[in-house]
Amino acid sequence: MPIILAQRGAVARGGARGYIPAPRMSKSETLPILFVPDTRLRLKARPIGDADGDKVRALADKMLATMYAAPGIGLAAPQVGEGLRLVVIDIQPKEAPAPMVLVNPEIIAESAELAMREEGCLSLPGQYADVTRPARVKLRYQDLTGAKREIEGEGLLSACLQHEIDHLNGVLFVDHLSALKRNMILRKLAKDLKSQQRG
Ligand SMILES: [Zn+2]
Repeated sequence: MPIILAQRGAVARGGARGYIPAPRMSKSETLPILFVPDTRLRLKARPIGDADGDKVRALADKMLATMYAAPGIGLAAPQVGEGLRLVVIDIQPKEAPAPMVLVNPEIIAESAELAMREEGCLSLPGQYADVTRPARVKLRYQDLTGAKREIEGEGLLSACLQHEIDHLNGVLFVDHLSALKRNMILRKLAKDLKSQQRG
């Protein structure tokens, strides 16, 4: 749908929220998303260096396209089989997209206050659970030009940032649940994926 992609590009170039330089919202191809229990989702991703620049810009484009197509509000590189510390996020409604690309994000402060939100994950399609995390976080990351930036989040953004950084460390939202709840979700996911394959 070239019209929608063009609109996203226009908003991004306007510097939607000033967090990122505009990624090119070209007609980027989408990538297959890995599902649990793919073992690549459990690996710790490696930091991105200067030498990765071109690859990371191309990957960020494809990850954004993949996230919008899913649709989802966040995607981490390990979810598309790339063991790099790269995250894309857009928590804005479709009418006003505000894509963020975070290179080497790390949490540098978090609130003592906790907040609970329902979370899902593109690697556990159709599964949702309430997850408790720090209510607010502060992150340090680099943008696609390598410039160091900081961002503070609360509410949905805070949960999303923490969820995606977890992916870079091989952690999934179900790891924050009791073993009972986690196993229930993992069994249901396996069943759902199996019936989808048959369907
Ligand atoms: Zn996820």
